[in-house]
Amino acid sequence: PVVTRIAPSPTGDMHIGTARTALFSWLYARARGGKFLLRIEDTDRARSSADATQGILDGMKWLGLDYDGEAVSQFEQAPRHVEVAQQMLAAGKAYKCFATQDEIETFRETARANKTSTLYQSPWRDADAASHPDAPYVIRMKAPRTGATVIRDQVQGDVTIQNDQIDDMIVLRSDGTPTYMLAVVVDDHDMGVTHVIRGDDHLANSARQMMVYEAMGWDLPVYAHIPLIFGPDGKKMSKRHGATGVKEYQAMGYPAQGMRNYLARLGWSHGDDEFFSDAQAMEWFDLDGINKAPARFDTKKLDNICGQHLAVMEDAQILSEIEGYLAASAQDPLTNAQRDRLSAALYCLKGSAKNYPQLIEKARFALNARPVDVDEKAQKHLGDVSNGILNELTPHLQSASWDRDALEAAVGRVMEAQDIGFGKVAGPLRAALAGRTQTPSVLDMMFVLGRDETLARLADALQ
Ligand code: GLU
Repeated sequence: PVVTRIAPSPTGDMHIGTARTALFSWLYARARGGKFLLRIEDTDRARSSADATQGILDGMKWLGLDYDGEAVSQFEQAPRHVEVAQQMLAAGKAYKCFATQDEIETFRETARANKTSTLYQSPWRDADAASHPDAPYVIRMKAPRTGATVIRDQVQGDVTIQNDQIDDMIVLRSDGTPTYMLAVVVDDHDMGVTHVIRGDDHLANSARQMMVYEAMGWDLPVYAHIPLIFGPDGKKMSKRHGATGVKEYQAMGYPAQGMRNYLARLGWSHGDDEFFSDAQAMEWFDLDGINKAPARFDTKKLDNICGQHLAVMEDAQILSEIEGYLAASAQDPLTNAQRDRLSAALYCLKGSAKNYPQLIEKARFALNARPVDVDEKAQKHLGDVSNGILNELTPHLQSASWDRDALEAAVGRVMEAQDIGFGKVAGPLRAALAGRTQTPSVLDMMFVLGRDETLARLADALQ
């Protein structure tokens, strides 16, 4: 069975690159009836924080990337990492190195002067245990010095690293703490991870990590190193290009399923398909569809895809995401009355917004209570002429049955009586109902607001 994982370090805001790696790993596992696990790589105590861990959990939740079991803390596995280091030591795959910082520096200086490799070669590698001093030591892997290591990567193909480029990496520090290189392998093995999908900034590390699998006689995982996300200028995506944090995208009001769709397309493709459902993504996603070249983040495409999702999403989903968006962007939550009105209005708003702030702006007529705040442009549609029109309309609305056809007929009577076009009635009506010139159709607005509220807004405008 397939087991994938996401293994973020909780050292800052969850990056969209991490979210994309998580998404790929999730899609891959879920489509194959496998497991998708979460491990928080919190071994670096100085840089890890509980806030950042919470940010990762929140981000995963927002994006709907559910993981199996409990999140694993890497730091808590430290005793197990030590145990593996000891086993490799006992098996002669690793050794105690007593070299001091000064000795290592001297080695490097000499190497630089002689123009030989500066990769440290410890004299302790082949020393016999009886000669060991009673002094602090680190545990290093005995890396092969000749030949080559081939990483069989599902995205990059076979990547060959000459072994003389790999030093005897430290697996246990002199204070007894495990290094990341050891921890990641032990945890992946213990968690039963079969497929390691991660950013290609980790590619070179794989050659070293493979040594630990080999030393322990463990099966290698399948590796898939995905190119990083670039900005529009072809440089690694950073704050210069705009938002990089998952939370920022939630706070900007993008729907999660649109975000998933866009992130899936970022570095992976399935023919010309741009807009797809989760079910389709699961059916189609495979490692061989991952591009070798870095993807460029394109906000227009994100907007476009999100707009298409908003047009087809279930109302209940939209409402619950709007509440999440308001919280994430530190805005007031909806009142019950607002939620009811918004819910009644959604049918006429859905197709016209790319994100939640846009949708909320269009829903302003339904969300805001009387008196309507009228902006300058809308004000121009109110006055003596419009009063005549609204006065004429009022009795028709008082007696109309409240469905769209009847409302249209009521407006039609005014057009007939005054021999004017639809726009001449709609302008003042729009200003009275919404106080704006850009709104959903006046028929939809009246329908959503209901008779009492509609007539009250007309009366306000007529005062
Ligand atoms: N903790 C590593 C990172 O955040 C992930 C390493 C891995 O996926 O193996 O970059």
